[in-house]
Amino acid sequence: MTQTHLSREIFPGIHCITLPLPGKRPGPVNAYLFVGDTVTLLDTGTSRTVDILGHALAELGMSFSDIDRIMVTHGHLDHYGGAKKIKEASRFEIELVATEEDIRGVETGNTVPQASTSFFLRTMGVPFLFPPLMRTLNFFFARMADNCPVDAIMEEGQRLDLGKYEATVVRTPGHTRGSVCLFLEKEGILFSGDHILKHVTPNALPMLEDWPGLPERKSQVEFYESIERIEALEPAVLHTGHGKSITDLASIAEFYRAAFEARQKKVLSMIRPKNDSVFTIARRLFPNIERNLRFPMEMYLAISEVYTHLQVLEEEGEVCTALEKNRLRVYRN
Ligand SMILES: [Zn+2]
Repeated sequence: MTQTHLSREIFPGIHCITLPLPGKRPGPVNAYLFVGDTVTLLDTGTSRTVDILGHALAELGMSFSDIDRIMVTHGHLDHYGGAKKIKEASRFEIELVATEEDIRGVETGNTVPQASTSFFLRTMGVPFLFPPLMRTLNFFFARMADNCPVDAIMEEGQRLDLGKYEATVVRTPGHTRGSVCLFLEKEGILFSGDHILKHVTPNALPMLEDWPGLPERKSQVEFYESIERIEALEPAVLHTGHGKSITDLASIAEFYRAAFEARQKKVLSMIRPKNDSVFTIARRLFPNIERNLRFPMEMYLAISEVYTHLQVLEEEGEVCTALEKNRLRVYRN
């Protein structure tokens, strides 16, 4: 097994290259290089770390021109952000492959039109100043990624030739609507993107609609259904999008489910008898959030967390919600 300064061979011909990402969570991002008759790169890191990726390839005696295909597990900038620069640095054509539902993220940097995000935030009851703050922060985040046209789509069940190995595309919506894992069935290896991480519970982000309207899909429900799909595959090892590999999926899944239950209870306990907005519940749940420098992003994650849990609590009959004067009001049943 080759161990260089910048990459680790995790299985014969499969190299993990860990690339820096600002902030503590979820921490550095893992890109995977499959070297065989063809060369595939799974996830790219941000546009800021393409040079490091280039050095990692050089240590393996390769360059960007050796890459045939880039696949992205989902349309978040730390997973696709370097694709454009990599394509431009290659002397040959590199095919960029993503899932249909995450194409917009890769091609525009936004998973939904701005109007949808603004509608969602307003409906959650955020103060007026919040959306411009978020747009400003997004502007800085956007500098970590270059939008890039997608050349081909990968679909559920599709078989992929990864040089030495064959992989199957497993659709695992939850973290994003189009998230996928790649499964090497014979070897029992799953590349889990951001769906399963060892050190943090991934966010099941709200699946906003393309038009101003509340999400119809329930991210938390889909997230846990996807976990069941992954468990049914019985992978021996999971190589994750951030952090360490996982060999004990059962205990990670158990931990996730326990954390979910605890969070459900906590969200429920935060709802006051008076009509609450999602924003006020989120602030109650994370009282110190405004001290964080990345406050708008953390606040968005907090709102997302509360909202996606409320979707489940409402389905279970614990709460009811109503749109009143363009704000979502939450009541305990
Ligand atoms: Zn992600």
